[in-house]
Amino acid sequence: MKKVALVLLLAVVAPSLALAWLAIRSLRDQEYLLQRQQSLLYQGVADAVATEAQSLLNNYEREFAGIVAQMLVGHSPPEITASFDEQLRQRWPLAQVGFAVSITGSILSPLPQARPDTRIFCANYTQFLSCRESAEVYWNSTANGPPEPINNESADTTSQKWLQNKYSSQTPSSENENSLKNFKNRAPSLRSVSPQQQSLPSSKEQAQSFSKIAASEAEFCQLMGTGTDGMLARFVDNKLNVLFWYRRPDMPQYVFGAQLSISRMVEKLKPALEKLDPSLREDVCVALLDDSARPVALSHLGFRTAWKRPFVATEVGETLPHWEVALYLLDPAKLTRSARTLKLTLGAVIALLVLAIGVGSWLVVTDLNRQLTLARQKTDFVSNVSHELKTPLTSIRMFSELLAEGRVSDPVKQRSYLGIITAETARLSRLINNVLDFARIERGEKKYHFQTCDLNNLLRETTETYRPHLEANGFQFDCELPESPLAVNGDRDALAQVIVNLLSNAEKYSDSRKEISVRLEQQTNPLPYVELKVLDRGLGVPEGTEEKIFEQFYRAHDSLSSGIQGSGLGLTLARQIARAHGGEVAYEPRESGGSCFTLRLPLCPACEKKSA
Ligand code: ADP
Repeated sequence: MKKVALVLLLAVVAPSLALAWLAIRSLRDQEYLLQRQQSLLYQGVADAVATEAQSLLNNYEREFAGIVAQMLVGHSPPEITASFDEQLRQRWPLAQVGFAVSITGSILSPLPQARPDTRIFCANYTQFLSCRESAEVYWNSTANGPPEPINNESADTTSQKWLQNKYSSQTPSSENENSLKNFKNRAPSLRSVSPQQQSLPSSKEQAQSFSKIAASEAEFCQLMGTGTDGMLARFVDNKLNVLFWYRRPDMPQYVFGAQLSISRMVEKLKPALEKLDPSLREDVCVALLDDSARPVALSHLGFRTAWKRPFVATEVGETLPHWEVALYLLDPAKLTRSARTLKLTLGAVIALLVLAIGVGSWLVVTDLNRQLTLARQKTDFVSNVSHELKTPLTSIRMFSELLAEGRVSDPVKQRSYLGIITAETARLSRLINNVLDFARIERGEKKYHFQTCDLNNLLRETTETYRPHLEANGFQFDCELPESPLAVNGDRDALAQVIVNLLSNAEKYSDSRKEISVRLEQQTNPLPYVELKVLDRGLGVPEGTEEKIFEQFYRAHDSLSSGIQGSGLGLTLARQIARAHGGEVAYEPRESGGSCFTLRLPLCPACEKKSA
């Protein structure tokens, strides 16, 4: 048994507890994992919106190139250049200022005095566009590729000339080299937002706080190289300027461009924010933040928060340097709540599983224990029954042989021997009856023949049959029976078997005080019933076994220690028979020592009238 319990403990309970411990430990990381999952999901969303915004800008750049190409169809550039600003703004609402630059570096359009916008534009860009000055620019390197070397054979000759003119005026070639070096040397700058998701490894954390977009010191002609179109961004007086430019391959001496109206461009980018999945709309707000982390477009109008601390954010790209697509949680506490709910649910499931394993193991051990006890009791039962059969058989054989061989001539002795033979035979048949009845009850085959029966009369008959045997063995035997009959509905033989079993036990378990009493009384509380008590002054039932003595094969006084033979079935049968009659058999200790076994059976007043 101990071995089984140990195996169960090592193979089931201990691993289950270890697994439960590991599971509970991993629960502590649930919030972090959930946050991580969310941040990956939302980062993907922010990246997608940023890509969408960037591709919209690329489309507008193509749109611009197409419009300029159309404007040039059938017109010579000089016809267009002078009024390019006006014509472009009429055709393309995104343009705030249109410009045209000639190969010689002169600004052909706009005229500074035309509008306030053109005056500012010319003040800011005349030097830069005519390649007389370099400026800090952000440019889309993927669209154009790095600037071509100045004397690239394949480069467009006019463009080359323009560049050569430019650089020949700045004689020292080292200057030129420096300029190219600067072009490549992009210094990282701090991002204007700091996303809350700082759970990344420290090196990435650092990378996260720096912008991937860096400005380069370059001149306009350098940026153009041999390309036909492109875009660039600049900060002038801390204000973002976005410029698109285009030149027709067959007339590279004219460059046409536009400075974008930022407010109109933002309007055009808004649909990119609105493409949010409906399920995500309930959880997050997407914002397009400008370079000072101010929201210029929102997916949820009226939403307010600390704009510099988004949940996740992505930079849009070189066209809109330091602009970010940022995601904010509409209900930041929701994440903690979901993590807590998940933790509680998983915790409850783990606790339930551990409980189930614990209860299951306990049930297995208890059942195993019960089976082992039963197996041991059955083995004891077989040896007890064999012994019980052998003892009376030996006496019967011995005394019947003496009588048969005529070796006993004394009539008193002969009677005594015959008495012993009768008693032993009765004991034998009692034992066999008990065993057979028990087997029948176990198989569910026991049949009772219920009929009206006077318990008073039955008790009188049974005790009188038993009395000679008891008295012969030195017992003082009292019977207190009422005068009137007490009718019960029962099986006479079965009830007689209960009485004999109780009497036989009283005899067996009596020690030196050989006193047995039998009492029969009628009780009425709550319903009328009869109460039959068999009392002795014997060993009594050891404490703690008062109920166990009614279990099959259980013996409180085992044969080895007490020397008293028994099968452990007498009381089991007595209780089963009593219950089959709607009654009960119970034990209670007697004051001043001994036992009291009570058989209670319901009275049958109707039967009484019938029998009367
Ligand atoms: P057994 O054949 O062992 O007597 P029973 O089912 O009749 O089997 O009784 C079960 C156990 O109850 C006995 O082994 C004994 O320990 C205890 N017992 C029964 N009757 C008495 C009694 N009158 N006095 C003391 N112990 C008793």
